[in-house]
Amino acid sequence: MQKLARLAALVSLVLCAASPSAQQPPPGRTQAPSTDGKLNIIAFGAHPDDCDQRAGGSAAKWAALGHRVRFVSVTNGDAGHQTEGGGALAARRRAEAREAGRRIGIEYITLDNHDGELLPTLKAREEIIRQIRQWNADLVLAPRPNDYHPDHRYTGVLVQDAAYMVVVPNIAPDTPSLRRNPVFMYFQDGFQRPNPFRPDVAVAIDDVIEKKIDMLDAHVSQFYEWLPWVAGNLATVPKGAAERRQWLAKSRTGQPSPAVREVLNKWYGPEKGNAARHAEAFEICEYGARPNEATIRRLFPFFGG
Ligand SMILES: [Zn+2]
Repeated sequence: MQKLARLAALVSLVLCAASPSAQQPPPGRTQAPSTDGKLNIIAFGAHPDDCDQRAGGSAAKWAALGHRVRFVSVTNGDAGHQTEGGGALAARRRAEAREAGRRIGIEYITLDNHDGELLPTLKAREEIIRQIRQWNADLVLAPRPNDYHPDHRYTGVLVQDAAYMVVVPNIAPDTPSLRRNPVFMYFQDGFQRPNPFRPDVAVAIDDVIEKKIDMLDAHVSQFYEWLPWVAGNLATVPKGAAERRQWLAKSRTGQPSPAVREVLNKWYGPEKGNAARHAEAFEICEYGARPNEATIRRLFPFFGG
C-alpha cells in the first residue's frame, strides 16, 4: 500500500514536471535575489591580477561593509612569466590570487583556461554563466571587449554574451538561472577605439589604497618579475620586501582623470569629489539590467547623502 502511495506521488511529480505552468518554471530552475541585505558582486578578469588593478579598492570597501565579493580569473595565468610556465606557474598564480583575496577579505578563484589562448567558446561562456548564477550576482564587473590582449578582449566578450543568458533556465540547466538580471559594468581602460571608456560611476578609494597595494603585492610573479621584465626594467625592482612594495605603490597609483573627477563630484559632491586622490571608475554595460540612480546608490553604498 505504502509502495502504491509512493508510486502515485512519483507519478504526480513527473506529471507536474512535464507540464509547468506558462508563468512559472518548475521549482529549482530559477533563484530569487538574496534577501539578507548583502550584495553579491562578481568581477571577471582574464588573468590572476587583472580584477585587482581595476576594482581591488572598491572590493575592499564592499568587503569591509560585509558584502560578498568574488574575483574570477578566467585563465590560469600559465603563460605569463619569462622563466616559468605550465602547471607549476598556474599553481603559483592561483596561490597568489587566493592570498590577494585573503588580504582584502574577498574570495578569489582561478578557472583552468590556458593563458594566452582564451577564445569565446560555448564552453567558456557556460563557465561564466555558471559563475554568475552560483554567486547569485547583483553586480557583474568585466573588461570592455576592445583591448590589446586577446584574453582581456574575450573575457569582455564572454561576460557580455552571458549577460542575457544568466536568466534563461534552459541554458546551462545544471545551475539554476537568475530570476532577476544583474547590473553589468565595465572596468576603466585607456583604449580610444571604437569609443573611449565613459565613466558612469566612480569610487574614491583613498581609505583603502594601502589595502589595494597589499593585494597587488601578493602577485609576486607579476608585479616584481614578469611585468618589469616585459617592460625592460627588471633591474629597477628593489630586492627587499618593504622596498619593493613601496616601489609598487609609486608605479601603480595615479590621480583620477578629469572625466573621472567629474563623476566623483557628481556622486560625492564637489567637496569630497575634489579631495579624492585615488579612484576606480566603471561604465554601465548596455546589456543586463539598466540601473537607475537609486539602484546605483544601493550597489555602491559609498557616496553618503
Ligand atoms: Zn591581464
